Amino acid sequence: MGDIVSAVSTAIVLAGRLREISKNIEDAEFKNLLADLSLELADAKLKIADLMAENASLKEKLHSLTSASGERCPKCNNRTFQIVSTKPHPIFGDMGAKEREYKCSVCGFAESKFVEP
Ligand SMILES: [Zn+2]
Repeated sequence: MGDIVSAVSTAIVLAGRLREISKNIEDAEFKNLLADLSLELADAKLKIADLMAENASLKEKLHSLTSASGERCPKCNNRTFQIVSTKPHPIFGDMGAKEREYKCSVCGFAESKFVEP
């Protein structure tokens, strides 16, 4: 990715030098094309910056998925199904049963599980 940024930066510098040289050239079409080229390069640089930001966030997401150590989510199958709360079961709590709330941090699927005493 860094290589692309430096390649586009170099291209922008080259276009700038062409613009300097073009001051001695009276061809309007040449100047227009050069202006278009500079705009396209600036646009490409912005798009690369967006892609790099997206890439970084995807890498982060991938890392959190591959290093997740929770239970497998019944819906999306990632190991991101984790306990968010546990409390005495509303009916069988007196006998020591618990109700555990699970939620998947990837797809948002939630489910409560009955835990026997
Ligand atoms: Zn899930």
